[in-house]
Amino acid sequence: MYSIKSAALESIIIASKNIYPQEFFSMLGGKNRTIEELVIVPAIFGDDFASYMPHLVPIDREIIGTVHSHPSKYNHPSDADLESFRKSGEVHLIISHPYDFNTIRAFDNKGRSIRLRVVD
Ligand SMILES: [Zn+2]
Repeated sequence: MYSIKSAALESIIIASKNIYPQEFFSMLGGKNRTIEELVIVPAIFGDDFASYMPHLVPIDREIIGTVHSHPSKYNHPSDADLESFRKSGEVHLIISHPYDFNTIRAFDNKGRSIRLRVVD
């Protein structure tokens, strides 16, 4: 089980809606299995993918995972998602359209679903 601060969740929802129908992507900062903030990195957005440049990630934050949006109603990881989950971080969020708490899911770095709860 992971926790996410409500402010971070709000940011994910707002950013995903703003960038729709493209994919939103961000790194997640936090510690002790709690996602505290988004760490936005320079990214290349595409219609069905989002990639980033790991060497540009600020090193003064503790990065524990990633989040990205799916413009469809499906919030299952794609093969490309599973590949990138494996490479970076311990918790990965996917939020699908129409982007609210009911459409966000958390996965570990092997793509297994894990529980996520919201904290203040
Ligand atoms: Zn995806």
